[in-house]
Amino acid sequence: MTAEIIDGRKIAAEIQGELKQRITQLQSKGIAPKLVTILVGEDAASLSYLRGITRTCTETGVVTEAAKLPSDASQKGLLDKIGELNRDTKVHGILLFLPLPKHLNALEAESAISPDKDVDGTNPISAGKLLLGEETFFPSTPYGVQELLVRSGNNPDGKHVVIVGRSNIVGKPLIGILVQKAKGANATVTVCHTGTKDLAAVTQRADILVAAMGRAKAVTADMVREGTVVIDVGVNFIPDPATGKNKQVGDVDFDAVKEKARAITPVPGGTGAVTSIMLMANTVRAAERLSK
Ligand code: NAP
Repeated sequence: MTAEIIDGRKIAAEIQGELKQRITQLQSKGIAPKLVTILVGEDAASLSYLRGITRTCTETGVVTEAAKLPSDASQKGLLDKIGELNRDTKVHGILLFLPLPKHLNALEAESAISPDKDVDGTNPISAGKLLLGEETFFPSTPYGVQELLVRSGNNPDGKHVVIVGRSNIVGKPLIGILVQKAKGANATVTVCHTGTKDLAAVTQRADILVAAMGRAKAVTADMVREGTVVIDVGVNFIPDPATGKNKQVGDVDFDAVKEKARAITPVPGGTGAVTSIMLMANTVRAAERLSK
């Protein structure tokens, strides 16, 4: 069996088309959905993510602005900025880039973002609501995983989903999303981590396997049962002997696993391609809710 490739770019374009229509409707009422990102310091990965978000905002029609604070900004300065954006009725979504410089308290800052504008779902209130199945904003990466599954015809309803990785930004919220008694969810969810004994024995029982470990090509073909749907969240850079440069690979050994999987996301072009568009989806929804 050679797997069907789940094309993240195509699915992101589909979602973007739907969002553009909703943005046009908002604009006809004089509302321009706006996302403000807050970056403290010069973290390289955050700067790269910021460029991606800015591009996606421009392409989608979401107004965006980056609030850049110096790396020696105080906790009060950061909280004041968040408070100002919470009060600004023209701002619908706020995203705080992590990691923050070490002297700052990330949890306090995330908790200060209004849950109505918390479009990356990092406020503990948003995280709690997600687990309770209450309406909230899902963090964009696990939200993207759900969309990839549903839109590729691999609805997790009734399936055994095994997630490898329990981080606060990917694995844990994905458990909360997929376990709900809700459309596009209702899965039986198992989560694995470094404390899991005999990882392969667990991953082999998956109907849907989600790798979010941050370990290049760690999921090998012997860990995957024939016919599994494989979603690779990993973003890793390893040397490419062919070019002498680094190349991007996922957490899954793509070439070997695609021969056993029923469907699989590539890296790049899979989960990474939908993450920013889910942030747009949340910002548009925030604008729709706040404009009512
Ligand atoms: P993280 O915070 O480092 O968490 C990794 C998780 O994987 C931890 O729970 C860890 O277990 C588990 N793990 C690591 N090695 C393992 C192993 N050998 N066996 C079993 N479990 C193992 O990572 P993250 O922030 O969730 O990110 C995961 C990957 O996704 C990274 O490659 C990251 O770059 C990528 N990512 C992609 C996107 C996107 O948009 N596509 C967004 C965010 C992250 P313990 O808890 O026991 O340590």
